[in-house]
This record gives sequence, C-alpha cells and structure tokens, in this order.
Amino acid sequence: MAAEADVVVIGGGPGGFAAALRAARMGASTILVEKYDMPGGVHTSGLQGAAGRGAGGIHTELMQRFADEGCIYTATEATLPGWAGNPLSHYEAHLEPGSAFARSSFNPEAAGRVMLRMLEEAGVRALYRTAFVDAVVRNGPRDDSVSEVIVENASGTQAIRGKVFIDGSGTAEVAARSGAPFVRGGGPQPPGVAWDGRNRPIPGAMLWIMSAIDFARVAAYQRRENDPALSKLIAAARAAGDIPPDLYRPRLSGTPAYGNAYIGHPTVDMSPIQAPGTFIFWQNVPYEWALHMDDDAEDEARAKKSMREFIDAEAGFLKKYVPGFENAFISNVGRYVGIRDGRHPIGEHVFSIEDARSGRRFPDAVTRPMTKTFFWDAHRPYTFEVPYRCFLPGKLDNLLLTGASLSFTYETIFMVMRNFPWCTQTGEIAGYAAGLSLQRGIAPKQLEWTAPYF
Ligand SMILES: Cc1cc2nc3c(=O)[nH]c(=O)nc-3n(C[C@H](O)[C@H](O)[C@H](O)COP(=O)(O)OP(=O)(O)OC[C@H]3O[C@@H](n4cnc5c(N)ncnc54)[C@H](O)[C@@H]3O)c2cc1C
Repeated sequence: MAAEADVVVIGGGPGGFAAALRAARMGASTILVEKYDMPGGVHTSGLQGAAGRGAGGIHTELMQRFADEGCIYTATEATLPGWAGNPLSHYEAHLEPGSAFARSSFNPEAAGRVMLRMLEEAGVRALYRTAFVDAVVRNGPRDDSVSEVIVENASGTQAIRGKVFIDGSGTAEVAARSGAPFVRGGGPQPPGVAWDGRNRPIPGAMLWIMSAIDFARVAAYQRRENDPALSKLIAAARAAGDIPPDLYRPRLSGTPAYGNAYIGHPTVDMSPIQAPGTFIFWQNVPYEWALHMDDDAEDEARAKKSMREFIDAEAGFLKKYVPGFENAFISNVGRYVGIRDGRHPIGEHVFSIEDARSGRRFPDAVTRPMTKTFFWDAHRPYTFEVPYRCFLPGKLDNLLLTGASLSFTYETIFMVMRNFPWCTQTGEIAGYAAGLSLQRGIAPKQLEWTAPYF
C-alpha cells in the first residue's frame, strides 16, 4: 500500500485533469495517476493542441492560463495567405479561398507544463510515469466498490487506496478492469451500410509536427502547377516507390462507415501550430485494419510501428518532392497513437443518438440544454441535456466516468461529445460529484443530482 487519498483519478487527460483539480479545490485529498510525463492526454502527450474559446469553468481558466503564459499561437489569412480553402488544411479546407479565419492552437509541451503546475497549485499529488494496471473490488449488497487501484512505476507494483475513484483513462480502462459492463469500440455500422460482422473502431491517429516549412513556396507551387492537392507529386513519388500503399489512401466515400470523416485522407493533412513555419500532421490508422488499440497489445504495437513508418515516409516525401519543405524537419511525434473509439461503458444511463434527436431532458441533467451539431446527421443541430447517470458505470458505486469514457453510445461520443472543452467540463462535473459525495459521506451513486452544473 503506497498511498491513500479521498479521491484517486486515473488518467490526466482533459477529463482526469479537471476532475483532480475540482476535487482538490473542494478540499479532498487527491492523487492523480498518469502514464506519461505530463497531464493533458491526447491534447499534450498526443500533440492535439487545438485551442478554442473557453466553454466555461476550468476550461475557460485553462485557455486563459495558456494565453497568459504565451502558449497560444494563432494563424490567420494575413499571416498564412493561401491557407483558407487549401485542400491540405485539416480545418480550413472547406472555406472559400482567401476568406478570413483564425486558427488557434496551443504548444502541447508548454501547455502540459502549465497543466502540471495548476495541479500542483491545487495540492493534487500527481504520479507521472505511473500506469494503472488493475483494481481491487469489494463486493457490496447492491453494487460493488473499488477499494484500491494497482499501479506500476519506478517503485514497482503498488496499491493506492481511495474512497472515490475517477476513470479519466480515455478508454474506460478502470471501469472495465473493475468489472463494470462495457462494449468494445466500433459498434454496428450506421443504417444503410453493409455490415460484414467485423467490429471496426473509428480509427485512431498519431500526430506529429514538422518545422521550418516555407508555406508560401508550397502555395506558389500549388498555383503554378495547378496541383492543389499535390496529386502530381504524390503520383510521381508513388511511381518511384517513395510512398507506401496505405499512405494517402482515399476516403471510403460512397459506403463510408462513419461519414467521410477520418477514414483515409488522399493528400497531406496539416494545420499550423506553435509558430510560423511549424505545422501538425495527422496519420490515421487505416480503418480497414480494424485495430483495437485499447485492449489488444498486438494491435497497439502494430499501430505504433506502422504510424512511425508512415510518418518517416511522409516526411521523406515532403522534403524530397514538395517545394517549401526542403529545410523542414520532424520536431515532435506524439508519445502514443491517440484512440478515438475505445471501450464504451454501459452506465446507469447510456446516452444515445435518439436522446439527442428527441432533445431529451433529464431530471438529473448536469448541463443546461446544449445545442450541438451532429455531422453524422447532415450537420443537424440538436438541443439536449446530459444526465448525471452517464457518469455512473454499472455495478460499481464509487467510480465516476469522465471524458471519452462516459456512458455514451459510440456514435454520440464520436460525433460531438468527445471534444476537448466538453471532456474538460465532464471532468469538472465528476470532480465536483466526488467532492460532494465525500462531504455528504455517501457514494457517488447515492448522490441525488438536482441542478445543472454548467
Ligand atoms: C487523434 C485524435 C484527434 C483528436 N482531435 C480533436 C480535435 O481536433 N478537437 C477536439 O476537441 N478533440 C479532439 N479529439 C478528441 C479528444 O482529444 C478526446 O476525446 C479527449 O482528449 C478525451 O479526453 P479524456 O480525458 O477522456 O482522455 P485522453 O485525452 O485520452 O486522456 C487519457 C489520459 O489517461 C492516461 N492513461 C490512459 N491509460 C492509463 C493507465 N492505464 N494508467 C495511467 N494513465 C493512463 C493517458 O496517458 C492520458 O493522459 C481527438 C482525439 C484523437 C485521438
């Protein structure tokens, strides 16, 4: 038994970070267990530094803190001419060429340090390079309770005891290992898509950063050679054997399983980040491979090895063939392949697409009605609430879910409910629920939720 706390949070991504911060600010002794060397999850260790307007609470505070500490970089059409409407742009490709935009990002490494300091300031005891591996569960009369989590770190295998536990793993790993019910990522395909029985998760991605790119020269080439998507250069490189078959694979349009999004990208996929001349790039795991990186070590190893190979091949292609990349170099690679569609716990309420479509209201809503656009449903906006029961896994009374580990069906979480602002808000709600249960001397499952938090 290495340590004991009121609240033990596993995973320091947007959800776990905000949960630990909120619980500690309510006076609970709080331990955070994080596998990598800083908090932030996909958005720092995974390099996905997309910044946006504050959504309220800790998310707004975080965005302000990033800005105050010089972590935010914003590119505009004035500083990056030729970017709006450019097919290479991850976010701005759909804009009219020349139109105004402001693409803000935070420097993932610097932002991770800011988040680390915020946890320290709140008194959270954070254990980095510490992996959750298992849970000790005690049987109860109705539901079971987690009593300790087992972790591995430089000190060996240790147990950490807690009163309330929060699953911020991004893949519901704690819920699954504690015996709570869940479904694997990659649910049945949407209506109208032939279903061959293979369970294919929405693919994950490894993100990486390249610096010293002269984008003005890239744009000049695109115009001069009438080659907006770099198709001519890609074809030449492919013919010369410089591009592996799965790089720049086309989207599966026509019978796409998850809309046209994230399933292959026929050209370079990039976005400005950190400073002029520096861009982040996406490498999506091929959808066809049907990899379950959250619960299959072989799949995870294959994804990591293959994405590194793709990154090397893409960087080699860009430097050799594309004007403007001659001096560019790889300046960072995500510490892991980000998972978009891991396990989905079956909680006390499973939020479904029908809940969103019908604009459902709940007596235990944690938010006021929210309007979100569902791109799977032809970008239709729906206004709905999310109940506290989505934070409560089945079978356990003292574990709270957050972020991408909430009890949502795979379509609802992928379409809108897994973004950084919302995941931070869910963490804050879970941290608040943990603090309130402790103050009242009850388990989170016994907590009666009566008013929206946001
Ligand atoms: C490739 C990719 C691109 C994305 N793009 C965007 C985007 O553009 N905009 C946007 O808003 N959202 C984006 N998302 C979604 C968003 O990043 C996630 O939904 C969000 O980060 C989930 O937050 P989380 O806290 O639940 O989990 P995560 O961010 O996944 O964090 C989980 C944390 O738990 C830690 N952890 C996991 N297992 C263990 C363990 N066993 N022991 C200890 N620690 C553990 C991890 O190291 C990590 O720090 C993207 C996601 C991916 C994967």
